Amino acid sequence: MNTPTIKQTTDNYCVATVGNLNTFAGKTFLKEAMNISSAEISFGSLDNGEATPFSHHHKQNEEIYIFLKGDGTITLDDTDINITEGSIVRVSPSVSRKIKCNNRLVYICIQAKQGSLTQYTMTDGVIES
Ligand code: ZN
Repeated sequence: MNTPTIKQTTDNYCVATVGNLNTFAGKTFLKEAMNISSAEISFGSLDNGEATPFSHHHKQNEEIYIFLKGDGTITLDDTDINITEGSIVRVSPSVSRKIKCNNRLVYICIQAKQGSLTQYTMTDGVIES
């Protein structure tokens, strides 16, 4: 488990980096390190032939996986789905998930309570100029 490098932080924002994605390895969670209150976000990587260490599901959180590099398979319950750079997968809390890597995968996982987002983009953004 890694932590991001915090570049700058105030009460109202935090700037961090996980470094170069070509050499990123392991798993880095951002919520606590960056004081994020609305979601847990992690960067993960798997080397060729590796898989996540266990299948899991969640009690109330939906997950969105965004695959940045590589290719492999995500198993959702009993269904295998090929994933590659650019793939995005949303998974409901009760669905069992496991990722297997063919070629070095780097991905982001966003975890937030299913159904919790009530306003977004133009219903939440306030244009200033
Ligand atoms: Zn999860």
